[in-house]
Amino acid sequence: MLLQSNFVVIATRNEGKVREFAKLFGPKGYKVRSLSDYSDLPEIVESGVTFAENARIKAQIISAHLHVPVLADDSGLCVSGLDGAPGVYSARFAGEDATDADNNAKLLQALIDQASSKELAVDGNHPKLLSEAAFVCALALIDPVANEIIEAEDHCDGYIISEARGESGFGYDPFFYIPELGKTMAEMTVEEKNEMSHRAKALRKFLDRLPNETAEK
Ligand code: IMP
Repeated sequence: MLLQSNFVVIATRNEGKVREFAKLFGPKGYKVRSLSDYSDLPEIVESGVTFAENARIKAQIISAHLHVPVLADDSGLCVSGLDGAPGVYSARFAGEDATDADNNAKLLQALIDQASSKELAVDGNHPKLLSEAAFVCALALIDPVANEIIEAEDHCDGYIISEARGESGFGYDPFFYIPELGKTMAEMTVEEKNEMSHRAKALRKFLDRLPNETAEK
């Protein structure tokens, strides 16, 4: 696939995500814009039941409107102890206008309420682990001029812990703990998170299929 322009619109207004994508796209020679650079955009209803479906819906609607390549991601947290919830409802777990704090409070309460909730044991000195979990990220890039689509998906495994740790990142990061690193995602720098996050892993898969803008135009 050869994109018709040297920039890609990321279909999000989440500045945390835009920062992560900009760092990963930079070496390929593509500039990154976000929905914050445009006005009068069509409304997007994330009606899919999978991350991949939602990513495709977002990329289709925005690329058809802007006539430029659009990369959409859909991501979220799947918690084993909650049968995979909140999943595609991660952003609105505690309601349509829920804040990160609302969602995190609901997540903890749901795990505490769980009859089967028990302290998980792993080797070493770790915080209290409430459940295995994974962040998942699906990506879909649609180039409306070339009429092409590239998709990729990956995940990052960890645990939900009982108390927030760290100040960086966003969303569920302060409660998502990776034992191998002894850190939550909110205790990592952007560089550290970009080594192993679900979004970074999905984007690396995806970038392998994208030509270098400077090399091929
Ligand atoms: P999306 O914007 O529809 O993909 O919603 C993703 C939601 O999942 C966000 O609002 C966060 O609650 C959560 N999420 C996705 N990726 C991350 C991450 O890297 N860290 C923390 N939470 C995340």
